[in-house]
Formats: sequence, C-alpha cells, structure tokens
Amino acid sequence: MLALDRPEILATASYINGQWAEDGDVLIDVSNPATGEIIQRLGSMGRSATRSAIEGAAAALPAWKNKTAKERGNILKRWFTLIMDNQEDLAKIITAEQGKPLSEARSEVAYGASYIEWFAEEAKRVYGDIIPQPSGDKRLLVMKQPVGVVAAITPWNFPSAMIARKAAPALAAGCTFVGKPASETPLSALALCVLAEEAGIPPGVFNVLVGRDSKIIGGELTSNPLVRKFTFTGSTPIGKVLLKQCASTVKKTSMELGGNAPFIVFEDADIDAAVQGALVSKFRNSGQTCVCSNRILVQDGVHDEFVRKFEMAVQPLSLGDGKDEGVTQGPLINRQAVQDVQLLVNDAVSKGANVVIGGKSPALGDQYFEPTILTQVTAAMRVSQEEIFGPVAPIMKFVTEEDAVAISNDTRVGLSAYLYTRDVTRIFRVSEALECGIIGVNEGIISNEMAPFGGVKESGSGREGSRYGIDDYLEIKYICLGGMA
Ligand code: NAP
Repeated sequence: MLALDRPEILATASYINGQWAEDGDVLIDVSNPATGEIIQRLGSMGRSATRSAIEGAAAALPAWKNKTAKERGNILKRWFTLIMDNQEDLAKIITAEQGKPLSEARSEVAYGASYIEWFAEEAKRVYGDIIPQPSGDKRLLVMKQPVGVVAAITPWNFPSAMIARKAAPALAAGCTFVGKPASETPLSALALCVLAEEAGIPPGVFNVLVGRDSKIIGGELTSNPLVRKFTFTGSTPIGKVLLKQCASTVKKTSMELGGNAPFIVFEDADIDAAVQGALVSKFRNSGQTCVCSNRILVQDGVHDEFVRKFEMAVQPLSLGDGKDEGVTQGPLINRQAVQDVQLLVNDAVSKGANVVIGGKSPALGDQYFEPTILTQVTAAMRVSQEEIFGPVAPIMKFVTEEDAVAISNDTRVGLSAYLYTRDVTRIFRVSEALECGIIGVNEGIISNEMAPFGGVKESGSGREGSRYGIDDYLEIKYICLGGMA
C-alpha cells in the first residue's frame, strides 16, 4: 500500500468535465515496476468518453479564454502552490508507478510545477503588435488569441512533468485541455487533477482521461475537429503516426519526440567535470529520458583517462526500489524494456564492443539492468543508431573536431547534445554546427522552465518552456484598418 499524507490524491478514475468518470468493464492495473504490486485499478476510457472530454473542453473554452490573463495566472499560481505543498505525496506516486528514485521524483514534481508558475506569469505578457502601415489610410494590428481546445498525449518517463509542461502554457494562453497520460503511469496526472480542482480550475478546463486503447483515444484526439491543437511527447514512430492523423483536420501541432544525444569530450576539457556531466546526463531515470546522452564521443588523447574515471564514477551507483534510501537507479519501466536494452548490448558486443562494467540484469531481478559502459563502439552498432532508453553508456573514440561533428549529426533525430571543452571559439563553432535543439556546454543537466525545450529533424517541432513556449498555444490574428486617413 502506498502511504500518503493525503490518500485522496490517489485518484480512482479519469477526470472529465469536472467529474470523476468511473467507467466500464475494462480496467487498467497500474503496477509498481520495482515490486509488481498493483497500486491502483482504474476504468479504461474509450472513444465516447474522449468525445465527452473534448466537448466539455469546448464548452468551457469561452468563459476560460474571456478571463483576464491575470485571473488565469492567479488560478495557475494556486495550482503551483498546491502541487509544491503536496510534493512528497506526488513524488511517492511517481516512484511507485514509474520506478525512479524518490529524490528524482521530488525533482520531477518541482520541475513540472515550475512550468505552471512560469506560465502563470507569462500569461500577462502575450503582447500584440502595431505594424507600420504601407499607406496613410491604413493601420495594421496583430493580436494573439488562444488556439482553442488542446489535446495532449504524454509518455511514462516523466508522468507528472510532461502533463504540467503542456497544460501550463495551454491554460495560461486561455486554451482548455484534454490530456491522455501513458497507461502505465496515469496516477501522477490524475493527482494533478485533484489539485487543479482545489486550485479553482473550472470544470472542463483541465481534463485527464486514462485508457488502455491508446489508438482509439489518440484517433479521436487527433481527428475531432473541436481540437485545434495537438501536442505529443513520446517516441518518433508514434509521433509520425499522430502527425499524419492530425492532417485530416489541419491541427496546429507540437511534437516532442525521441533523441540520440551525442556527448562530446574534447582533449582540452576538464575531464572530471565531463565525467560528472556524463554520469548525470546518462544515468538519470536509469537512462530513460529523451535528453540522456546516447553516444559518448571522446577524443583519442583523453579517451583512456575518461573511461577509467567514468568507470570509477559509475561503480557506486546503487540499484533497487526507488523508495529505498540510497538507491540511485530504479527498475526500468517493464521487463520488455530490459530485454530491449539487453538486445542492444548483445548486438554491440557481437560487433566488437567491450563491456567495461555491467552489461546484464543483476541478481536483484530481471526488472533491473546494471549501469553499463561499452567501449570500442562504432557507428555500425545499434546502440549508436537507436535511442537506448536504458542505463547503457556507449563510448566512441574520435580524432578531429570535424569527425566529432560529423558523427554527432549522422542521425535522423536532433534533440539534445553535450560538449565539454575549455576553448570558447570551439564552443561557438561546434554549437553552431550541431543539428539539434538543445546544447549543454560543460553541463549535463539542461532543462528548466525558463529555457526553450524541443528538437529539430525527426525529434519534432515546437518548444516547451521559456517565453517562446506560449506561442505554440496562440494564433496570430492580423487586422487591417482601412479608411484611417
Ligand atoms: P510512446 O510509445 O510513443 O508512447 C507515448 C504515449 O503515446 C503514451 O501515452 C502512449 O499510450 C501513446 N501511444 C502509443 N501508441 C499510440 C497510438 N498508436 N496512438 C495514440 N497514442 C499512442 O513512447 P514511450 O515509450 O511512452 O516514451 C518514450 C519516448 O518518449 C522516447 O522516445 C523518448 O525520447 C520520448 N520522450 C520525448 C521527450 C521530449 O520532450 N522530446 C520527453 C520525454 C520522452 P499508452 O501508454 O497508453 O500506450
């Protein structure tokens, strides 16, 4: 049993139009990946519930968008405060359903909440423009308006923050919202609904529905003409399917998809700092983040030193149930994920990679995978080409800066990249040459609410966070006033 200070934030149903919608015969068992224990049983929603949620959001839209930005901002600030007041309970829910260590779960709650606080403030800064007129009798105005009903689908790796990162700019802009979290981790999103209601977010403005048939729910969210904006965080293959589905009603879209981040260590780098950066960027959430370093590229002169120090840093990582003190590496989301990671390691080893540490599931259980370092990795191995989404650090050697950039860009995705160097001219040269949306220079943790998060190429489109993030939820309207001479 999950012991919470406020057990009522562990919801038992979807939240649609201000009601807790108990539904149907089909149930979803939400289980703890560390223990297999069932934490909660929820009714699974289908097409008709999805339609009701969309229609409820459409009905709630006029009153919500007609509130002043300050009024919406004040409600969002109350939501932020309630989330932070309940941080510990929310963190326990994340750890129970997703597996990450409690300390990381606490950070996730604060990270998600920071977007709500940020956009509560940004709501007041949605400025229009007056454009110089082309002739004396005209005046040209530009105003920004909420796009309308927003639908969102989110993944399991940040079950609280991914919903918050989308709902915050949507609600601040004056949109209403229907979210569908991953069916493996719906409880964090539903807990946010309890607190949204307490904060005074009106019925229909923020809806979360849970269903195991994501194709049916996703089909409705992407085809219903009442939905004017669709935002997705998840894998690139599913993102492509959903993007195509959105074409039928020409929705505005944002896609936060998969990455294959290079982590480049140049010979002039502070190697100890690079080791720490690689450690946090690779092993956070057991390697299950979209910005995890996926290919560690080390210049030949410092390769052996880096590998030696990196191994010493990885050795103390401690596997176990995320709720236990001292655990730094939780389980992977499910056994399939463990098997997928094992296949990637086997493929690399069969093509000549060397296992420095790890490489398999530990005696602790087959829901875990040991923190792993591979050397002698080449571009031909699957670990270099695919998103690993597990605690495996493949190290490749490179000779010149041009090689490092070419290897880094040799992928169809481009979300994040990292580089370690003390040469300022190189920082600019390489940052400008890398094909990605986010770069950490001498830094392994890069995301915060004040900065724009998003990718290029097949990592998607749109930005979350920062002053740019609200634009994805706004339409630009141009008004030409004639007869003004
Ligand atoms: P996923 O398989 O693409 O699933 C993501 C979401 O899509 C889940 O809610 C899932 O629902 C739903 N879904 C799956 N198939 C669907 C379909 N045919 N129609 C409609 N919805 C569908 O991704 P994941 O394995 O959960 O998450 C990992 C991926 O997310 C990685 O590639 C990672 O890089 C990416 N990610 C990207 C960012 C970013 O900001 N760029 C952030 C975090 C994660 P069910 O769970 O109910 O099937």
